[in-house]
Parts: sequence; structure tokens; C-alpha cells
Amino acid sequence: MTARLLTGIGRLFSPTAARTVDHVEDAVVALDGTRIEWVGSRTDLPRELRDRETIDCEGRAVVPGFVDAHTHLVFAGDRATEFSRRLGGETYESIAAAGGGIRATVDATRAASRDELVAASSARLDRMIGAGTTTVEIKTGYGLDLATESKMVDVIEALAAATPVDVVTTVLAAHATPEGTSRDSYLELVMGEVIPMLAGRAAFCDVFCDPVGFSADECRMVLDTASAHGLGLRVHADQTGRAGGAEMAAAMGAASADHLDHATAADLEALRRAGTVAVLLPGASLTMRLPFPGGRAVWDSGVELALATDCNPGTSYLETMPFVVALGVLEMGLSPSEALWAATLGGARALQLADRGVIAPGMRADLVVLDTDHHVDLSYRPDGDHIWQVVAGGRPLRG
Ligand SMILES: [Zn+2]
Repeated sequence: MTARLLTGIGRLFSPTAARTVDHVEDAVVALDGTRIEWVGSRTDLPRELRDRETIDCEGRAVVPGFVDAHTHLVFAGDRATEFSRRLGGETYESIAAAGGGIRATVDATRAASRDELVAASSARLDRMIGAGTTTVEIKTGYGLDLATESKMVDVIEALAAATPVDVVTTVLAAHATPEGTSRDSYLELVMGEVIPMLAGRAAFCDVFCDPVGFSADECRMVLDTASAHGLGLRVHADQTGRAGGAEMAAAMGAASADHLDHATAADLEALRRAGTVAVLLPGASLTMRLPFPGGRAVWDSGVELALATDCNPGTSYLETMPFVVALGVLEMGLSPSEALWAATLGGARALQLADRGVIAPGMRADLVVLDTDHHVDLSYRPDGDHIWQVVAGGRPLRG
């Protein structure tokens, strides 16, 4: 790997463990291959680091690469027709009862070949990366049988092997109950076969704990099994109603509790005590035209907060983290600095990755050069393409 310098950084913004964002003006970052070697003011740059291949940022702002900690990136087909029907007044429930909803995506994903899934998903991944994402979590959960859940992991591994960004795999077999199977027999399959077979190829297990998904008791059993197989835990918690998901996530010591649209103050306090990160997903509220999750309340509760796209074909077909940051600010009451924190270090915390989300020596060289002099433009000018350069693992990805 080439040792590089990013020079001419007008303002460098780096989140801190104290949930603030530090900034350095007229900054330089030295990269030693895949890691950050030195960060500071141009005038302090050590002499021995000066003679390197240079990217001149010409006064632009630099932030850490975005960490998208919640996506369902791998799927076949789309659900634009269903979206239009909802706009026309039909409910998600009536569409789902007629074979739409998640069943439509499960059918399409089962029918698609591995190569078709790789092609569709890598196009989405490329757009994410182009918008500054340098770490992406990807869930299974559109197979709902061993063969297709396993095929989804094959696809995630193929994407990971072909991309310069870091990919984190999560098994979400307990996403829904497949057609023609009882809940109990499906959960038996998940715990008896799917998790044991796939645990060695994933970092996390996720469950859909919701009035329309699985109960807290069912989810606890699945997560116990996952834990015994060495997986970290994540929970889709209390999205459409309160099902005890946040409480259960905290009690299980989960890495994250996600959605939390119906979490109470007591739930947030339990998450804070447990050190479980809250991952909020404003794209789902936007797409479903529902109230946004309480970003301000979560931040003020002291729970560590991450923002993510929730990229999926049914309820949040979002790919770009800058847009999610803008929603965090414009619709959820976060300040621009808080939203930046949540989209970078917050995401890293949610994925329990200690080597990113901060621009400091020893961290992965994951950086975004914005085509502006301040990150506030991500929400002030929310429809702009503010990405000038993306550096992932030390590699500049744009020209
Ligand atoms: Zn999700």
C-alpha cells in the first residue's frame, strides 16, 4: 500500500469518545498504507512524513468514512408497485396478506441466482460507497430457509471480497415466519440448523422483536443460541409497537437495539446502563410516512446513537449516509455535529469496531473529503452531492 498525505484540509472533523466532534483547521493526515499514521496542523507535520504521494484537498473539509450499521442490502426485485399502492391508500397489512410485503422479497430472493444477487447488490453497494460509506453491515433475512440464508451469506462474502470497504455480516433468519410453516417449527430450524451452520461466517445475529415479528421470549431463545455459537447480538426493537425488544436487548447485552420508534424513557435508560447502542433509521419513517424516531430524546438520554440507512426494498430504499445525516438533523432534532457523530463513531460503536469512526493514529484510513468547507452542508444543502473523495482502507476510490 502507498503511504500518502492528505494536505490542504480546511477543517478536519473527528468525533470523540465524549460524544463531541473535535476540529482542526489547516490540517494534514498521514496514511501509512491502510492505517492513519499522523493527524495534526500542517505546521506541525514531522519532516520525515513530508515526502509522500499527496492528495491536496484544496481547503475542503474531511470527516471519517461513514459507518452504515444497519442494511438489508442483499435482495432481489423491488417493491415500487407496493409503494404506489400504499400511496393510494392500501395498508402494509392488506398488501402483505395478499402476498406482498416481505414475502414478495423472500420469493424473489429465493428465485434469484447467487450471481444475480451479487450484481444487484454490488450496484447498490457502489452507490453507498460513492456517498462516503466505508463500513457496511449487511443482514440475511430474505431466505427464511437454510439454503437461501446460506446463499445470502455467499453473496455478502462475494461482495466483501470485491470491495475496498469493510463488510460486516449479520444473520437475521428470525426476520419473519415463512409461508406454510408454524412459528415454532421455523424457530426450531433457525436455532437448530441456520445459526449453527452460518455462525462461523458472520459476526452478529439479529432478530425482529416486534408486535408483527417475534416476541421478546422467542427472540431471547434465538439470541441465546447465537451467543452460544459466538455471535454478537443485535435486535430490531419496537418498530411498529412496543414488544419489549429494547428491554430484552439491554438485558442480553446486545451490541445494538435498532428502530426504537416505540421505546420508552425506561427502555432508553436500560440501554444506556447496558452500553447497548441505539441505531435509529429515519428512512423507514420517511418512506412509510410515519413520525420519525426520537433522535433528540435518545441523544439526551445518554444512550450512544447511530444513524443508518436500513437499505431494504420494502420500507427504506435509501443508500446514502449523507441523506440519513440530513434527516437526523432536519427531522429528528439532532445538531449537525451529533448527526455526524452518529453516522461515523456511533455506527462503529454499534458494530463494536474500535478502529474507525475517529480520525486518529492507528485507526483505519477511512476518510471522506467533502466538496465543501464544513460538514453542516450535509443537512443545510441536503440534496447536494457533497462527496469529493472517499478513502477506504488507505485507497482513494475517486479518480
Ligand atoms: Zn432492518
